[in-house]
Amino acid sequence: MAGPERLGRVQAALGEQGVDALLVGPSPDLRWLTGYDTHLAERLTLLVVPAAGEPRIVVPELEAPRARAHGVDDLAGLVTWGETDDPVALVSGLLGERTGVVAVQDRLWAMFVLRLQAAVDVATWVEGGSVLGPLRAVKDDQEVAALHRVGAAIDRVHARMHTWLRPGRSERDVAADVAAAILEEHDRVNFTIVASGPNGASPHHEVSDRVLQPGDPVVVDIGGTLDGYCSDSTRDYVLGHPDPDYAELHAVLEQAQAAGVAAVRPGVTAEQVDAAARDVIVAAGHGDRFVHRTGHGIGVEEHERPWIVAGDTTELVPGMAFSVEPGIYVEGRHGARIEDIVTVGQDGTADPCNHQPRALVEVAT
Ligand code: ZN
Ligand code: ZN
Ligand code: ZN
Repeated sequence: MAGPERLGRVQAALGEQGVDALLVGPSPDLRWLTGYDTHLAERLTLLVVPAAGEPRIVVPELEAPRARAHGVDDLAGLVTWGETDDPVALVSGLLGERTGVVAVQDRLWAMFVLRLQAAVDVATWVEGGSVLGPLRAVKDDQEVAALHRVGAAIDRVHARMHTWLRPGRSERDVAADVAAAILEEHDRVNFTIVASGPNGASPHHEVSDRVLQPGDPVVVDIGGTLDGYCSDSTRDYVLGHPDPDYAELHAVLEQAQAAGVAAVRPGVTAEQVDAAARDVIVAAGHGDRFVHRTGHGIGVEEHERPWIVAGDTTELVPGMAFSVEPGIYVEGRHGARIEDIVTVGQDGTADPCNHQPRALVEVAT
């Protein structure tokens, strides 16, 4: 849980990495650290975590009651500023005259970073992700349980997909039904990708007014947030029977996805999972049609570390959570992707959060 234990681990990491302080604005990182869920706005809210000593949080006076309601003052001393005060000067005062290395949470707005850089004499600024990313990547037992709960929630939405997909309906019509179902199972809808026919060849297609046709394959990639943790799962459907090319491509993809999941073993790195899935697709002659990484970490954010891709040499350890989602995209024709979230269990192997059948689903028309 967010709280003193996580703050303590962050301070230890700062010490180990030789970083004097970490600045965290409203973000998933702030929520993960303190439980405070608030929006980035033109009035600065900023948690200042020194490597040693008491964390403080600079908050606009009018938001102090909200911060207290979230229990933030139990974790970090509140430093409030009035409408005509300069919050950057307050942060500067907390950091001191000269500071060696300061880490800034990755998504703090440039306007704040630039003002801070002008106001504080800091030798080196570094990305906060280098401190927070590795810590957030390893989930505790409660987080793992939350990811399995939200995985089951999205599975229940996929299980109803055949009732919404039929010829004559548009992708947008289907997505509206899907979004309503996600909301029945989650606190928030994050995205609904309904990519039919040739639209399936665009991995991040969302929805369009395209009307579903008999025989269309449809890639459905959906996710929401439940109790602060994200779901993300893709299945492929076909209205009636698939053409033989598509069935072949999907069979390759099923093997690739299974190979990626099976590759999760003690000592294996993120990029080795990518290679295991990719090798199957390359061997089948579709290598140039798999245009994205095999997966991404997931937790309080949809996309976070580790990255399941060549170059990410993060060793997988129990508690990590990520997607395994190879895809094959044939421009102008169709595409397919299969995506499950897995967590790394205590034995070092993958424990899927999603259990809907991965085979192509033929929807009766
Ligand atoms: Zn994506
Ligand atoms: Zn997805
Ligand atoms: Zn994903």
